[in-house]
Amino acid sequence: MPERSTSGLSRDMEFVIEARDGAARLGRLATAHGTIETPAFMPVGTLGAVKGLGPADLAATGAAVMLANLYHLSLRPGIDTIEQLGGLHAFTGWRGPILTDSGGFQVWSLSTLRQLDADGVTFRSHLDGSPVRFTPEGVVQAQVRLGVDVAMMLDECPPWPVSHEAAASALARTQSWARRARAAWSGGPRRLFAIVQGSTYRDLRERAAAELAALDFDGYAIGGVSVGEAIEERRQAVEWTASVLPADRPRYLMGVGLPSDILHAVRQGVDLFDCVLPARNARHGLLFTRQGLLKIKHAAFRNDGGPVDPSCGCPVCRQVPRAFLSHLLRSGELTGAVLATVHNLHHYLDFMRDIRQAIRSGKLGEVAFVSA
Ligand SMILES: [Zn+2]
Repeated sequence: MPERSTSGLSRDMEFVIEARDGAARLGRLATAHGTIETPAFMPVGTLGAVKGLGPADLAATGAAVMLANLYHLSLRPGIDTIEQLGGLHAFTGWRGPILTDSGGFQVWSLSTLRQLDADGVTFRSHLDGSPVRFTPEGVVQAQVRLGVDVAMMLDECPPWPVSHEAAASALARTQSWARRARAAWSGGPRRLFAIVQGSTYRDLRERAAAELAALDFDGYAIGGVSVGEAIEERRQAVEWTASVLPADRPRYLMGVGLPSDILHAVRQGVDLFDCVLPARNARHGLLFTRQGLLKIKHAAFRNDGGPVDPSCGCPVCRQVPRAFLSHLLRSGELTGAVLATVHNLHHYLDFMRDIRQAIRSGKLGEVAFVSA
């Protein structure tokens, strides 16, 4: 029987920090489905798949972990169905680690379709209007039934802008839900992450982080950003929060995905990221390259025989010219979106690898990103 750490995880599943460069950390987050080298980017597979990619395609991009969404999976196909089919790994065919978001983001993004109360939140399904009830305990249990590697607590993501009073009130509810989620958590080979809210108010962020740290979660997320605030406000919220989170636990910045924002947050000591941006941009023909953002549908690429990015080693850049991607995407051909997604995710995962190598060699200050 392996020895248990305070968080309930066995010692060989702990989060190990291998190197530091300033506040940035190079780490290894072990899970029952593989080890995640951090800082890491998690592609978003809301319904269990990154749009356009099967599990083997996703693995080929170099992704170590996939993010899925409890709210959406609860509506369809339903937790019962996935559990009966052996859990989310068996259901999706993705064998690597999975993190599920709890539905707290949908409290914000589907604000016209939900009713909040002290005990939880009732959504009106965006599909058929039927009511769906989420409580802190129910959300924990549903993620355990899915068999995910990292579960997120239910939280209330407030809108922006929001008054200090309203942000404090939303935070009080989130903190109460955190205590209930922690009490409902039985540990085992999974992690439960807390989510720090508090909008753009320093006192709320710091108080929330301190209270959640005392509850001894397996990891800590910075939530409530990327909801319309200015870039400087977002970065301040990250700086205030990251600096007071427990040093020995993974930190996850939710939904922030511009390469410049990722690099900033890594320098504050953040370890995990997710964003729909690389996949969504790909579908719109916006390709990230080391030379800058390429609008591949532009007429200039109609006859371009070069690769999307000469310095990219992805299968798309090795096999087909820009002209082909431009043709497919201008024609609305599904394959165009798929190939563009493969390239963009590959680019992001290469960027994270560069960041990890730079931290290991103490040269994070030299890492640059090409402005989108
Ligand atoms: Zn490529």
